[in-house]
Amino acid sequence: MAISKVIIVGAGPAGCVLALLLANAGITVDLLEASDKLDDSPRASFYPWPAVRELERAGLLPEVRERGYVVSDGVSWRKVDGTLMARMDISAVPFDRRLHGLPLGKLLALTREHLDRRPNARIRYLHKVSRIDQSEKSCARVFADTPDGEQVFEADYIVGCDGANSTIRRALFGEKFPGRTWDEQIVATNVYYDVAKHGWGQGAFIVDPQHFALVALLQKDGLYRVSYGEKVGLTREEYAARQPEKFRTILPGSPGPEDYKLVSLNPYKIHQRCAQSFRVGRFLLAADAAHLCNPFGGLGLTGGLVDVGNLFDCLNGIHQGLADDSILDRYNEVRREKYLTIIDPVSSQNLRHLLQDPDVALKEDPLFQNMDMLKDPEAVAKLVTGINDIMHDFTKEYKQSTETSVETSKTLATAEVNMLLASD
Ligand SMILES: Cc1cc2nc3c(=O)[nH]c(=O)nc-3n(C[C@H](O)[C@H](O)[C@H](O)COP(=O)(O)OP(=O)(O)OC[C@H]3O[C@@H](n4cnc5c(N)ncnc54)[C@H](O)[C@@H]3O)c2cc1C
Repeated sequence: MAISKVIIVGAGPAGCVLALLLANAGITVDLLEASDKLDDSPRASFYPWPAVRELERAGLLPEVRERGYVVSDGVSWRKVDGTLMARMDISAVPFDRRLHGLPLGKLLALTREHLDRRPNARIRYLHKVSRIDQSEKSCARVFADTPDGEQVFEADYIVGCDGANSTIRRALFGEKFPGRTWDEQIVATNVYYDVAKHGWGQGAFIVDPQHFALVALLQKDGLYRVSYGEKVGLTREEYAARQPEKFRTILPGSPGPEDYKLVSLNPYKIHQRCAQSFRVGRFLLAADAAHLCNPFGGLGLTGGLVDVGNLFDCLNGIHQGLADDSILDRYNEVRREKYLTIIDPVSSQNLRHLLQDPDVALKEDPLFQNMDMLKDPEAVAKLVTGINDIMHDFTKEYKQSTETSVETSKTLATAEVNMLLASD
């Protein structure tokens, strides 16, 4: 069955990348976005290989590298006074498999530039989906509040990429979003401060139950992401008032406000949650609408981008007549399993490493017991490939599995996008 249209609810990074993949393959796609613009609050910034692979398939990678950067320096773990606890040597990790850095706002702007050049993709701003209807067997429907009143939109499939508070997930499952919320709170800031002159390199974690933090270069021009632990339950203003003292405590050189330029500050609650299914009939869930994890280790959007890359292969397989609709049940099974068995435990462990007394951690935590391994470039290169297990190749589940591969589907997509652009 050729797909005549897919609707994506939510033009965040997951929704935009899915739209681009589908549009590149010649599938018409409508993005319904509640806001009047793309959300550039300081969230995702670092992408390991599974996410980079999907950005590459969407045709974004050369500009991601140009506008962002590829880390050249190993990450370190430090005490809050700056004492080095361990450093990971990434010198043997091939360039294209290293962490890529690009602030979410810039990734969204880039994706939007590409979408604007696709005649078969459209972002409809100020379209807030409020309810769904799948009583029709032949299509799915959503109702959106728009500047012209409530409007109904229909498509063969509707994908909820509408983030942590997903209306689509709530419409399917009510308030149930199984999992847990951490007792810890984080505050994410973007700041210009000369961390490099203190020898901390491009990325450092601070191990401390109260002042756990990430300090990482965000852009080549010296913008850093500083995310740190905070007391739960304060207002944004209270977090902002406490920020100078936090920076004095956690940043090298104990800077005062005159030493840096704060660009943004946003508090976030952190969760580990997974929806009970990522598919109900013609409705699908992906990325934060489907699952959440804490941001230490950069697995949130990474898992989301792998979801949408997988979902693209499933929908494209249906569109090309290479798969039937049951492949979407497999999408649900595989992506939930990847979250539950890899993303949730690994991201939880990433945060637990930071929440300890650093002296106890040095004695008892296997991460710090294995310091020789962290210093061994070949062992580190092997270690970082572990996260590739969150990937899955759905083209191998197509009917002609021996003849069809990701490369075939990529070639099809590229051929069609060239035709579309040629007709611009
Ligand atoms: C501090 C912090 C740092 C992070 N760092 C990383 C990192 O380095 N690497 C990483 O991989 N992940 C990271 N993450 C996680 C990452 O930011 C999220 O996983 C990602 O933004 C989720 O993308 P999304 O497209 O699913 O949802 P969102 O980005 O939340 O986008 C959802 C979109 O849907 C729209 N929407 C919502 N409701 C409706 C509706 N009813 N109708 C229409 N539109 C609607 C919203 O306006 C929004 O535009 C971080 C998160 C935080 C908080």
